[in-house]
Amino acid sequence: METCIFCEIIHKKAEAYIIYENELVCCFLDKFPINKGHVLVVPKKHYQEFSEVDGKSLNEVILISQKVAISLENLLNTDG
Ligand SMILES: [Zn+2]
Repeated sequence: METCIFCEIIHKKAEAYIIYENELVCCFLDKFPINKGHVLVVPKKHYQEFSEVDGKSLNEVILISQKVAISLENLLNTDG
């Protein structure tokens, strides 16, 4: 099985603050945030290249990213 830091976080073998996950995606705080509320939304299935990600996972990443963004805007009172 191929592994990477994202897979380790998804399989709870590396520490991360997970804010949301479902069967397709995992969302967690970036370990080295460039600003407050820096969240990574990643597919649970490992892909070496972005161009290889299956449509179902990619669709879920975008939809969940929008939900996370809306939540962060409300929580942090940002303007976008
Ligand atoms: Zn991986």
